[in-house]
Amino acid sequence: MIVVMKQGSTPAQVEHVKNRVREMGLKDHVIVGEERTVIAVIGDDRFKDKSALETVPGVDKVMPILAPYKMASLEMKKERTVVPLGKAGTIGGKKIGVIAGPCSVEDRVKLIELAHAVKEAGATGLRGGAFKPRTSPYAFQGMGEEGLKILAEAREQTGLAIVTEVMSIEQIPACVEYADVLQIGARNMQNFNLLSKVGETTKPVLLKRGMSATLEEFLLAAEYIMARGNHQVMLCERGIRTFEDYVRNTLPLAIVPELHRRSHLPVVVDPSHGTGKTHLVADMCKASVACGADGLILEVHGDPEHAMTDGAQSMTPKAFGDMMKSIKRIAAAVDREV
Ligand code: PEP
Ligand code: MN
Repeated sequence: MIVVMKQGSTPAQVEHVKNRVREMGLKDHVIVGEERTVIAVIGDDRFKDKSALETVPGVDKVMPILAPYKMASLEMKKERTVVPLGKAGTIGGKKIGVIAGPCSVEDRVKLIELAHAVKEAGATGLRGGAFKPRTSPYAFQGMGEEGLKILAEAREQTGLAIVTEVMSIEQIPACVEYADVLQIGARNMQNFNLLSKVGETTKPVLLKRGMSATLEEFLLAAEYIMARGNHQVMLCERGIRTFEDYVRNTLPLAIVPELHRRSHLPVVVDPSHGTGKTHLVADMCKASVACGADGLILEVHGDPEHAMTDGAQSMTPKAFGDMMKSIKRIAAAVDREV
């Protein structure tokens, strides 16, 4: 970091800052300018508390140079991370991975039928919530472990990788047993105990961005998982809360290239939650592929009108198939494959 002294700061104040920097186990390099003195702090200071220097008399501001996340950063690892989706494929390589399925697992026969349909259309992963984070405690909360068993049966039949949300630490063992990828939902992006615990598993993690989380908070959440040894993290943009009300959430696609500029982790976009409106989903899939998304996660339902959750943003299998065809040409234009 760089410590910028106030105009007119005294040599004693500069000396004090130098001593504080050394106490932190770091080195200092003082640059005396015509108007101000600047102290360059040398060493890995990303985990040091910069506010300890900000409060020192004579200090104007402290500017971090290194990102506060380390393992998630491109500074640490230059090669892009490729995350396996079970035995079905990967996300992060040339091929764009598509995960599709209902918001919630509702029914065994219907889920298996849908799994065959999305597989046929080119999906690599099957999504479906067995444990559902619902705004109301009276709304359908998911099928629980029975839902996980249905998902596993669908994998048996189709070979699709299973992606399902884990909402609490107690649910981790069951989700690890049945699923290929653990999804951390938007509402849990800063549930630090949960992040650390999934970081102790060996399953890839699809980390959804919190609906009011900044990009830096998002990457620090990924860091929690990686710090415990699990480096198979996918970052999923699912839309944020804004003043807009023509959509359920606002989908900020500029985050895709920005995450790629800062991190080696693959980026997945969820245009279903990102818009909340079925008629907007296919176009946002195209835009996501065009701006470099490594994967897509989509809600698809055999009968959206009767879906128990998120029907208004769910595609029919036919619409999903059409979308898959339409993104092929866009993928080719940006040197990717579907
Ligand atoms: C979901 O994937 O169905 C879900 C609840 O997503 P989010 O956590 O992004 O709201
Ligand atoms: Mn949903």
